[in-house]
Amino acid sequence: MLSRGCRFQLLRNTHSSPLLWKKSSARGYKKTVKELHAQHPTLLKNANVLVRVDFNVPFKKDTTVISDDTRIREALPTIDFLSKAGAKVILASHCGRPDGKVKDKLRMSPMAARLSELLGKPVATTTDCVGPEVDAAVSKMSSGDVLLLENTRFYAEEEKNSPAFAQQLAKHSRIFVNDAFGTAHRAHASTEGVCHHVQHKVAGLLLEKEISFLQGAVDQPVRPFAAIVGGAKVSTKLPVLDSLLDKCDTIILGGGMIFTFYRALGYPVGTSLVEEDMIPLAKGLVEKARAKGITFILPTDVIVSEKFAADAAHKVVLCTQIPDGWMGLDVGPVSLAAIKQALSTCKTVVWNGPMGVFEFEAFAKGTLGVAHALADVTAKGGITIIGGGDSVAAINAAQLSGRVSHISTGGGASLEMLEGKVLPGVAALDDSAK
Ligand code: AMP
Repeated sequence: MLSRGCRFQLLRNTHSSPLLWKKSSARGYKKTVKELHAQHPTLLKNANVLVRVDFNVPFKKDTTVISDDTRIREALPTIDFLSKAGAKVILASHCGRPDGKVKDKLRMSPMAARLSELLGKPVATTTDCVGPEVDAAVSKMSSGDVLLLENTRFYAEEEKNSPAFAQQLAKHSRIFVNDAFGTAHRAHASTEGVCHHVQHKVAGLLLEKEISFLQGAVDQPVRPFAAIVGGAKVSTKLPVLDSLLDKCDTIILGGGMIFTFYRALGYPVGTSLVEEDMIPLAKGLVEKARAKGITFILPTDVIVSEKFAADAAHKVVLCTQIPDGWMGLDVGPVSLAAIKQALSTCKTVVWNGPMGVFEFEAFAKGTLGVAHALADVTAKGGITIIGGGDSVAAINAAQLSGRVSHISTGGGASLEMLEGKVLPGVAALDDSAK
């Protein structure tokens, strides 16, 4: 079943591995900020450098209190590098989906406060990301200073990739560093558009690390190679599932998306989450998996609940017997044991999306169980890669973040990389001279 030609040894701890970065050349061997600095040692000193970071962090429900600061912490190496090289670091990011309007709940001030704590120095902010207030703030910056601009998506022009808006964003800088892996799959003004208005456009250290790991997994997985795909939005995950069927030995499904698959198989799903228009595609994927002889694990038991609430009554049922009026909110214990068993022999595992509504303790067992299974794979020398904000939050909640090989900061972007796509935010960067 696994006659897939040569097996490659994937490098471990390849944070800035030139080897993997080089091997990724087919999909963009790009210049990094370190390479730029090595080529022009005085360029960064006192230069305004626009850095696209991904501070699209989750908040605790109905607050602006950051519940997981992983994305901010992951941006620190690039910010620190630039700051120490004497640059004036101008950070731009989006947060949430304000749809081109100013929304106070999506302002960047909580992220600036957290960044300031992590850096141990002040981080200036503006209440706009372009315009006179930004001009004034930039003019006051000194070498090594850090400024965080307001949410770029307060302007509809951001997602429309408006050239005029991109020009405004890039107005103060000749150098652009893209370190926002989480939005590198979007051709937006602050990711792709700005590249047309600067002299140097390079990858940040996080972007480099992310591409090394994800591309390594896809291009050279040590087999058996398993993918676990969960979460709620089946429509965003079907394309990657289709492509993973060509690459993986084992595919494991979980989360709200399994109910669309159950519907495709003709099972009753009660009030569980279903994307009706995705049913034919789900059916096609099940057939493709069967035809290819892939180990395709769809949970056989689920935890169902009477309502979507933390304290709701719940019970375990077979996936073919979900009662009317009940909704599935986690994978059941038999399925979890089967998933753990399947993972125990894997050498490379990628995981995107929680197995259930892990935000509620009663429905977190599947997700936490998978998190522990990944830690076990890592302990045995396997490569484990986690993508997607919720899976990352879960691995942090389980205090296992140090026991997996790589935690990706980009859910959608990591899915697109696994799918084999070229990310526009990466494609627009300067090619490496190496
Ligand atoms: P996604 O953004 O597609 O990865 O979805 C993540 C969300 O899926 C999390 O907030 C989970 O609470 C949610 N989720 C996982 N399993 C289920 C389920 N069975 N029903 C509803 N939502 C779910």
